[in-house]
Amino acid sequence: MKTGFHILVIGGGMVGACFAALAASNRHFADLRIAVLEAQPPTMPPPESGDEVDLRVSAISRASERVLREIGAWQLLPGRHVSAYDDMIVWDAEGKPRGSGSIHFSASESGEPNLGYIVENRRVLWSIYDSPAFRNRVTLLRGELAGLEFEDDHATAVLSDGRRIEAALIVGSDGSSSLSRKLAGIETTGWDYEQRAFVTHVRTQHPHERTAWQRFLPDGPIAYLPLADGRSSIVWTTTPEHAERLVADAPEQVAKELTLALDCTLGLVELAGPRGQFPLRLTHAKDYCRERFVLVGDAAHAIHPLAGQGVNLGFLDSAALVEVLAEELDAGLSPTALGERRVLRRYERWRKSENAVALGLVDGLNKLFGSRAITLGWARRTGLNIMDGSMLAKRFLMGRALGIGGDAPSLVRTHR
Ligand SMILES: Cc1cc2nc3c(=O)[nH]c(=O)nc-3n(C[C@H](O)[C@H](O)[C@H](O)COP(=O)(O)OP(=O)(O)OC[C@H]3O[C@@H](n4cnc5c(N)ncnc54)[C@H](O)[C@@H]3O)c2cc1C
Repeated sequence: MKTGFHILVIGGGMVGACFAALAASNRHFADLRIAVLEAQPPTMPPPESGDEVDLRVSAISRASERVLREIGAWQLLPGRHVSAYDDMIVWDAEGKPRGSGSIHFSASESGEPNLGYIVENRRVLWSIYDSPAFRNRVTLLRGELAGLEFEDDHATAVLSDGRRIEAALIVGSDGSSSLSRKLAGIETTGWDYEQRAFVTHVRTQHPHERTAWQRFLPDGPIAYLPLADGRSSIVWTTTPEHAERLVADAPEQVAKELTLALDCTLGLVELAGPRGQFPLRLTHAKDYCRERFVLVGDAAHAIHPLAGQGVNLGFLDSAALVEVLAEELDAGLSPTALGERRVLRRYERWRKSENAVALGLVDGLNKLFGSRAITLGWARRTGLNIMDGSMLAKRFLMGRALGIGGDAPSLVRTHR
């Protein structure tokens, strides 16, 4: 059986689903047929009154908030599951929070209402699937990609059950181990960090003050991200052996380690959620497109989670790709020509360089703070002190973290 679409998105995670909904909500795509192929479509999370907070949460930037608002998804997120934070305090293992060797970012200094939000991934994802743009205009196909065939004027996705789906443009958003990327013959650069991210939620003796706290330890940073119910969500980057122990050890022992890892900044800690660990890898696709095919999100780039940027960069990819395609359609491009490499190269040039800056910055920070060399330790603390005193440097970094600095898509640069 054969079916045809103008755009077929492979992988309906947060980024792929968001791209589909953004395209569907843009007037230039009004007559286009858009589909998402997803192996495991999400189910509705527990209703708003549920107290349960899932293990996987993300720091969502201002730019991502604007993208999600555009498709009507942000408006669907239950308020009590959206945890705004106003401050971020980052310090070196040998420094002190709010003291020497630290940097303090504050919403009041950035002219923004807050610095971002902590939201469960499953709620972000569901809000996108439940958004008017997605529900009314996007065809959801449940199935697994197994092959890709490329012709001059279209590409065909072959599913594991034998179905064949033709499209003028295929968007690969099937995550960091992307099969579509491999099938399209696109190579990657990158390396394993030999670190893992240990995640859980905790209750702390002292209130988190709507602040994201991050302390850089020699094996990797530990972050306490504030949740609306007073708990904090932990992301602790550490060695694989240590991460395994943190998942398996007695809760009291892990709580003690977490208390000390943050230098008792929020007092004693009690575990208050499930535990998990994730391997960490940097991946960057050498090309973002070929004829009839383009990459977005983790399929194009996987970044260390220490700056909470992964999905935020993916949402920026989605907004940029929609912007480029909409401009081409506006200039008279036939919808059947959407997959031309000449068109997709405009997106590639734009987003590949922006993502390379983010990947490089975050990788550099991880290496700089991971070094045990005494001279580097001194340089780190001095650098943090200098940056903390420079409003210009802080505004630049906050602009990047909020996703509205650099060469951001027009959708996220202005309030609507
Ligand atoms: C510990 C940790 C903390 C993080 N914290 C943050 C944070 O605070 N802020 C932030 O911005 N980012 C964060 N990230 C990164 C973020 O989670 C990812 O960048 C984001 O989930 C990537 O989304 P995606 O849609 O590109 O890919 P994915 O979420 O991997 O989605 C890919 C989708 O494709 C589907 N799929 C795969 N193969 C096939 C196939 N063959 N056929 C059909 N469908 C397929 C999958 O089922 C899945 O739904 C963190 C990551 C980690 C590990």
